Amino acid sequence: MRGTVKGAIKRGRSTVETVIEHGRATVETAIEHGRATVDDVLHHGRASVESALHHGRATVETAIYHGRATMQAAILHGREDIRIEHVPVPEAAPGELIVEVGAALTCGTDLKVFRRGYHARMIVPPALFGHELAGTVVQAGAGVTNFRPGDRVVALNSAPCGQCYFCERNQENLCDDLLFNNGAYAEYIRIPARIVAKNTLLVPDHVPLEHAALTEPLACAVHGFEDSRPHPGDTVAIIGGGPLGLMILHVAALAGCEVIALVKHDGQVEAAKQLGAAHVVQTSSIRKAIQMTRALTPKNRGVDIAIEAVGVPEAWQEAVELVRKGGTVNFFGGCAVDTLVTLDTNKIHYSDITLRATFHHTPAICRRALELIAGGRFQADKFITGHAHLYELNRVFEKLMNRSSEIKTAIVP
Ligand SMILES: [Zn+2]
Ligand SMILES: [Zn+2]
Repeated sequence: MRGTVKGAIKRGRSTVETVIEHGRATVETAIEHGRATVDDVLHHGRASVESALHHGRATVETAIYHGRATMQAAILHGREDIRIEHVPVPEAAPGELIVEVGAALTCGTDLKVFRRGYHARMIVPPALFGHELAGTVVQAGAGVTNFRPGDRVVALNSAPCGQCYFCERNQENLCDDLLFNNGAYAEYIRIPARIVAKNTLLVPDHVPLEHAALTEPLACAVHGFEDSRPHPGDTVAIIGGGPLGLMILHVAALAGCEVIALVKHDGQVEAAKQLGAAHVVQTSSIRKAIQMTRALTPKNRGVDIAIEAVGVPEAWQEAVELVRKGGTVNFFGGCAVDTLVTLDTNKIHYSDITLRATFHHTPAICRRALELIAGGRFQADKFITGHAHLYELNRVFEKLMNRSSEIKTAIVP
């Protein structure tokens, strides 16, 4: 009797436990399925909302663009004379794009033009101004198949002809008929057909437009560095802590070179260190800078590569004094027209020094520059140290002339 009761209790208990266990498993499965379904719905919903927002925004922007007769744009009239004016909104001719500027970056070349009032090859006033930009396509001219309204793009400041002696030899930077485009400091910019066809690139979704706008100067920096024929582990001295000096420095550091930055201003020291300089030499004395730089190399032999990124004759001469026997000098900084330099021919000849100079960029290098920005190792945010509205452009350039610690300012229309 007792045995039967005990058995019944035992069986009853195990039945109850089995029921509880099955129940729990069923509830857990249900919760899991429910959760997955909710996640799925959320994900799809979010993607649909985002895509609707994107399309809606592109449509609104296009509508705004089409509805407008004038836009605000910076016009360069001459020396230190920029005026923000209302000018007709551009219309895309066949092959052209109209891009709503998301960000335009200030540049040393623009500063030079602001100071001098013109640029022999790039700009003759009165003219639209500014050349580093990224934005959103609002109109595509007839025959444009690669881009459509809503696309985020970076449009380079020039494009080669593709047919001349130099273009055929992969030296498109030296093209006899290099076409330049200006007008980035504006609400909209027209992109000429040749630049649309050869030098306009889609910006990956995760790259902010103001970072993508760095493609042009970075292409110049990458070109200058690669032209210096570097090897990993080389010691590279870079003269000049301006935006391009710092960019070459960063590119060289990312490529595994030991970089010595030669700078003059306090604000440039920290920037150079953050961007990867192993050593920073800060002095306004050229003689001292040469001594200090050579002292950083074994037996004072000098650096493997010296890149001049200032554009004054003293710095060109200084660069030659920094390199070791068999080293390479790159005269990267362009001096004022008619500048002459004096170089020690004995040193160049008997020390077997290679002298190079690098100008501008090619379409292939521009693509590599954007890849570098999108890749994540390049610290794009470090180069954009300020933001300003189009209306503040004069003040921004005045500040840049006074050698502020700003590297680049993003002008947002
Ligand atoms: Zn530039
Ligand atoms: Zn050409």
